[in-house]
Amino acid sequence: MTKIEIKNLFKKYPLDNKEEFTALSNINLSFHQGELVAIVGESGSGKSTLMNLIGGLDSKFEGDLIVDGLNLRDLPDKQLDKYRKNKVGFVFQSFNLISHLSVLDNVCSALTLSNVPEKIKTKKALELLTKLGIEKYAKRKPTQLSGGQKQRVAIARALINDPDIILADEPTGSLDSKTTQQILEILKQIADDGKLVIMVTHSEKVSSVCSRVIEIFDGQIVSDTKNKNYKKNRKKKNNNEHFKAEKQHLSLKSALKLAFHNMWTNKIKNILMAFGVAISISSMILMLSFGSGLTDYVTNVASDYTNPLVVPVSKKSDNMISSLSSYWTEEEISSLTEELNSFLSKNNEEFTVSDENLKRGFTMINLTGNLASIDYSVDNEIKTQSLFCLYTTPPTYNETNLIEGNFSGENEVMFNSYIYNLLGDEVVGKQVDIYVNIAGIEVKKTVDISGVVNTSTFDGILCVYVDYDFLEKCVIEQNKSLTPTDIYIITGNENQTNLLKNYIKTSDKYSGSMEERLADMFSEMSNTISIALAVIAGISLIVSAIMILTVLYMSVSERTKEIGVLKAIGARRRDIKNIFVSESFLIGLLSAVVGICLSLISFGIFSILFNALLGFAPLSLRWYYFVIAILLSVLISMLSGLYPSSKASKMDPVESLRRE
Ligand code: ADP
Ligand code: MG
Repeated sequence: MTKIEIKNLFKKYPLDNKEEFTALSNINLSFHQGELVAIVGESGSGKSTLMNLIGGLDSKFEGDLIVDGLNLRDLPDKQLDKYRKNKVGFVFQSFNLISHLSVLDNVCSALTLSNVPEKIKTKKALELLTKLGIEKYAKRKPTQLSGGQKQRVAIARALINDPDIILADEPTGSLDSKTTQQILEILKQIADDGKLVIMVTHSEKVSSVCSRVIEIFDGQIVSDTKNKNYKKNRKKKNNNEHFKAEKQHLSLKSALKLAFHNMWTNKIKNILMAFGVAISISSMILMLSFGSGLTDYVTNVASDYTNPLVVPVSKKSDNMISSLSSYWTEEEISSLTEELNSFLSKNNEEFTVSDENLKRGFTMINLTGNLASIDYSVDNEIKTQSLFCLYTTPPTYNETNLIEGNFSGENEVMFNSYIYNLLGDEVVGKQVDIYVNIAGIEVKKTVDISGVVNTSTFDGILCVYVDYDFLEKCVIEQNKSLTPTDIYIITGNENQTNLLKNYIKTSDKYSGSMEERLADMFSEMSNTISIALAVIAGISLIVSAIMILTVLYMSVSERTKEIGVLKAIGARRRDIKNIFVSESFLIGLLSAVVGICLSLISFGIFSILFNALLGFAPLSLRWYYFVIAILLSVLISMLSGLYPSSKASKMDPVESLRRE
């Protein structure tokens, strides 16, 4: 039965200078099942070229090459992949085993490409390995085998799909004479079992064993002789169940497994790379947690001061620092009162703002450090400490804001818990001398400490609280008057509070409490910082992407041979692409995991540092930052992997296999 029919076949290789090199000219041959054909000829005569054409690795030729009635010249790529996978098995001189896979996995690889279930695959592969006498090496890596053993593995791999045609390009070229004999015997048995075996050889000894010898010279057939003395072996019972997976392709799981295998062989390289990517990933997580940390911090600060019956009002200012000291003139307070009252009456509210329920407050932030300080004595020694801020106790405060003691009245002050650092545990009742400079008005008083205020978020700095009336009195004693910075309106119920708060929020003249303004300042600050950090993280992510691209690109070059082999055993472009895309996916995943670990470690370190320096840590993690990190890392590495994977998938199998 004619298996292969070659008619008027020409193969021309294009050369750089627009010329062509005719590697095969006018080949006319037919091959039959059960033949053991030797193709002989000088090096460069075109033997490998012919084998590659028959094997469907190269379909650019003129003439006809018909296998089982199909002309390979006209076959679309997909059909050609299928043809290689199911109809032919390749055996090479240099074995071309995939070094990072075990013997068993190498043999199985063609079935893996067909997504054959693990159990069946292993069973078939072990059967073949047993048949070839190397079942005990199944778990070894190719590098741990001798040449003859490697070639048996390669033959097992070629046979696993039960192809009709075995193409062996100098299969004994790298073997000693005794091993050559054994391999030859195996190939003969395969032919005698009914397959067509075509083998390229240099050795007379080898060709003399074959049933037919074809000699090529300069791309032309010069002789084609049948060996009359050829004696067929008895056909061995072929217990190979005929197994053809027609439609199945390399599964995602297998692609991932192959990718993982390769990554495992290059552990150090991959871990180092993942570490590089992880640094950018973790800095991104830190950046996000810093942003949310500041927001959380501010929300805490603001919620510390909410009282359902108090509406704080301050003057709006574009500049945070100047708005901290926006003084209210009496005219401005009247105009606020009028405005609010007309708004309230429009909304049919009974409530009106009056002197009774409009309270004044004063806040001073001592940024320069020389506007406010206290003198206190410890062990009869007078010490001075500057105050970070001076507040008049806001009407929003109640008993729950006190750690101990009472609200301060005349000649009294309260501190936040920082005072314990200066005076020890017992502070209530002790005396300090306080100095404040309010816009040039200097106030100096000896006061008692009446209590300690809980301002958890400001524990790292010293703040003092005084009663507004007391502060005003001190200023009046200097023949000056105190201009308030904060206005509070005490409402009758929560409805009124909400109504007024909403009005103030939407007003362009006023804004809410000093805490709300602080919140605005922080969010502005954190936005600026976040943008700066985002740019840095973005740059480092780009660097990571380039790094992944480089490593994958190198990996593709290193594995050119492997890609050629995979194509020879029927891998589609898609399959090759999937293997590399899987690898970039795994790199992304690994980087994300390392990155998350790094971010947790640095989160801990930064929290400790911030706590030591500021008394609080503006850092909070959200679970979805990790999801973002994983998605981003995988996305980046998969994007970086696109180019190398597509390059790999487009590699010409013949060229890849020729590569040393
Ligand atoms: P053999 O296997 O018989 O040693 P080949 O089939 O490998 O020879 O090569 C046949 C001829 O074709 C050689 O002269 C070789 O230089 C040429 N050749 C092979 N591949 C290419 C190619 N990709 N481009 C140009 N010439 C090629
Ligand atoms: Mg050759």
